[in-house]
Amino acid sequence: CGIIGYVGTRDAAPILVESLKKLEYRGYDSAGITLLNENITTYKTIGRIKDLEKILKDNIKGNIGIGHTRWATHGVPSTVNSHPHNSGDISVVHNGIIENYLNIKEQLQKEGYKFLSETDTEVIAHLMHSKLYGSAKNTEKTCDLFTALQQTLKELEGSYAITTVCSSEPDTMLAARKDSPLIIGIGDGEYYAASDVTAFLSHTKKVVFVDDLNLVKMQPIGVEFYDIDGKLIEKETTTIEWDI
Ligand code: GLU
Repeated sequence: CGIIGYVGTRDAAPILVESLKKLEYRGYDSAGITLLNENITTYKTIGRIKDLEKILKDNIKGNIGIGHTRWATHGVPSTVNSHPHNSGDISVVHNGIIENYLNIKEQLQKEGYKFLSETDTEVIAHLMHSKLYGSAKNTEKTCDLFTALQQTLKELEGSYAITTVCSSEPDTMLAARKDSPLIIGIGDGEYYAASDVTAFLSHTKKVVFVDDLNLVKMQPIGVEFYDIDGKLIEKETTTIEWDI
């Protein structure tokens, strides 16, 4: 169970794959990535990162993306249970356990959301969609992705490190955590979010350790940290002194 996210100006896919290989020790029953451009394009499969590499298509571009290597807790290891999990134009990867997912799932199913997987994680994607669009069928946004994630987190019980993207906001990646590790890498015009610094240490040694119940907004123009109430907070940057 490792998550990664990249925002910058380079091709995200090879960077995500390389980072996932470094995170593979954390869990390795399945893996996947989503690339963000005018759409979200998701590749995922049961197996290892090398199996994911086999199904990746070279012609799918994107300078922003998220990735996951899974160690199943809810739902068997399978391609459909592997991450990312999507709802409409939203894609989510998650490390941790959502303890109240059955209640949320029941509520969302009543609202018309169709679940494809057996995972706890899929509720995050659909709950964000319901906050962003007001309903399963609606295509007009009622708020922005940041607000949708913030409202979603307030309903989640359990542990999470999340990275998420939405194609209606094609220059943004969001991340958040509670009781699962999340570290932000500050590069030159690019940003990383990962479960472990080793995922991006070959690109940057400048990092920010994210606190519980903090949200992170990453765009090519910069990174911002917020508390759960949406208040902007100052964070200290640390330089990692060791090599991998
Ligand atoms: N609970 C989630 C699942 O089973 C995430 C597991 C993980 O952290 O890899 O899909």
